[in-house]
Amino acid sequence: LAERPTTSGRSPEAVLHEVFGYESFRPLQGEVIHEVVRGGDALVLMPTGGGKSLCYQVPALVRSGTAIVISPLIALMQDQVAALRELGVRAAFLNSTMDFEQARATEYALSTGELDLLYCAPERLIQPRTLELLHGASISLFAIDEAHCVSQWGHDFRSDYLQLAVLASEFPEVPRIALTATADERTRKEIAERLSLTEARHFISSFDRPNIQYRIAPKTNANKQLLDFIKAEHEGDCGIVYCLSRNKVDATAKMLMQNGYTALPYHAGLPAADRANHQERFLREDGVIIVATIAFGMGIDKPDVRFVAHLDLPKSLEAYYQETGRAGRDGKPSTAWMVYGLQDVIKLRQMLEASQGNDHFKRIERQKLDAMLGLCEVTRCRRQVLLNYFGDKLDNPCGNCDTCLVPPETWDGTVAVQKALSCVFRTGQRFGVTYLIDVLRGSENERVLQFGHHQVSTYGIGTELSVNEWKSVFRQLVANGYLRADPEGYGALQLTEQCRPLLKGQQTVKLRKDPVVKKSAGRSSGR
Ligand code: ADP
Ligand code: ZN
Repeated sequence: LAERPTTSGRSPEAVLHEVFGYESFRPLQGEVIHEVVRGGDALVLMPTGGGKSLCYQVPALVRSGTAIVISPLIALMQDQVAALRELGVRAAFLNSTMDFEQARATEYALSTGELDLLYCAPERLIQPRTLELLHGASISLFAIDEAHCVSQWGHDFRSDYLQLAVLASEFPEVPRIALTATADERTRKEIAERLSLTEARHFISSFDRPNIQYRIAPKTNANKQLLDFIKAEHEGDCGIVYCLSRNKVDATAKMLMQNGYTALPYHAGLPAADRANHQERFLREDGVIIVATIAFGMGIDKPDVRFVAHLDLPKSLEAYYQETGRAGRDGKPSTAWMVYGLQDVIKLRQMLEASQGNDHFKRIERQKLDAMLGLCEVTRCRRQVLLNYFGDKLDNPCGNCDTCLVPPETWDGTVAVQKALSCVFRTGQRFGVTYLIDVLRGSENERVLQFGHHQVSTYGIGTELSVNEWKSVFRQLVANGYLRADPEGYGALQLTEQCRPLLKGQQTVKLRKDPVVKKSAGRSSGR
C-alpha cells in the first residue's frame, strides 16, 4: 500500500496518522481503503461503530480530486463535515438546509478543486444540474452511505437511491464505494444490482459485538423489571430505553424520573427544541437515560452507553441488532436487555397488516418478525442465532448471553399444546389469548358464560398451569408458527397448517420454561 504513488503524495497510513491521529486501521478498513485507492469499487458491510467513514475519508485524501459522499441523514452530514473541518480537511455539504448563496459558494469551491470531500443528499445529487456540475469537476470517488436505502424491502427505502445507478453510467472511471450496517445476503445482492456495483469487491466484517451481553425475558411487570435491572446492574450508567409508542415513551420516562433517575423522552412528537436539548444532554451529561422510540439513534455516536433496554419487541433482527449495537461502542461490558410479550407480537403484526406495503412486502416483514421472535424463544446461544442470521458464524456458544449463562429449562409441552390448540378450535378461532386462558382455566367470567364456552370440552382442562405459564405457551405457539393473529387485526388467534400433526398426536413439543414465571412463583434473584 505504502509504495503506491498517489497524486496527493500521501499514503493511506500517513493520512490515518497525520490527519486523523489514529495508530492503525481497524479490521477491514485497510483492505477497503486499498481497493478504493487503486480505483476499484467496493461494497462494505460493517456494523454500526465499525468505522465505515474512514473507508472513504482516507481514500478521499489520498486520491486527487473531490470525493462525493451521498448520505440521507442531514444531521449526520453536518456533524461529519464539522468534524472534518476541525481536522483541517476541506469538506462541505450540499443539502436542503442551505440558502442559494451558500449552495453557490460550495458549488464554486467544487468546480475550482478546493474541496477534498463534498457531502450531498441523494435527491440533490441526481438533479441534472448537479450532475452537470460534477462533470465539470475532478471527482476522486463516490461514497454511497446507508446503501441499504436502495432496498425496496427494507425499512429505509428511498426512491432517490435507485437513481444513483446513473453514477455508474455517467462516471464509469470513478470508483464507487457503498456502505451499510444492515444488510442480509438478499439486501447485499440488491444493493449490488441496483447500484450497478456488479464488479465491486465485497467486504464483510464480523458482526460480533462480544462485549454486549444479550438478555431477553418474558414481560411480566415491565416497569418493575426495568427498575430491578437498572438498580441491580446499571445504577448511574447511561443508557437507552426503547418503546414502541410515543405515549409509552412519555410514561416510561416519567416513571424513571419518579424513581430518581435522569430520564429524558425522545420521539418525533416532541418539539424540535426539546428533542435537540434531550439529545444534547444525553451526549454531554453523565448517567442520563434516554427513553425513545426507534426515531432516536440514527447517527448517535456515544461510546459509553452501558445498556440498551427494549420494553417492546423490535420488528426485525436487523432493528434489534442496530438498536442494541448502540451499547458499548467503547468495547467495555454492556447489556442489551429486553422484555417481550405476546401483546407485542400481536401489536406488531397488526401494524404490519395495516401498513401500505403489498403482499410480498408484508410476507417478508412477517418473516422478519418471526425471526425476531425466534431469537426470543431459542433455547441455545442467542449470539450464535443472531450472528447466523447475518451470515456470520460463531463456532462455540458465546458464554455471554442469558441462554449461555443460565441454560433455559425445557419441558415436554405436548399435552399443554394440544389443550391450547383445541381450545382455540373449540371456541371458533375468534378469541384472544386472555379469553382462551380463561376458558382453559375454567374461569366463570361473564363473557365465557355469555358465549356458552363453559360447555366446550376444553373448559377448565388447563388448571395445572398458571395464567403466565399459559401466556408463555401461547407465545411460543405464535413464535413457532402454530398459531397466528387473525388478519383483520382483532387479536384473535387462529390455527395454522402446522398444527395438524400436533393435534393428531403425531409430534411432541419441547417448550422453553419461562424463567420469569418461575421467579414470580417464589424466587426473586436478579438473574
Ligand atoms: P460507522 O460509520 O461504521 O458507524 P464511524 O465511522 O462513525 O462508524 O466510526 C466509529 C468510531 O470509531 C468513530 O468515533 C471513529 O473516529 C472511530 N474510529 C474509526 N476508525 C478508527 C481507527 N482506525 N482507529 C481508531 N478509531 C477509529
Ligand atoms: Zn451465548
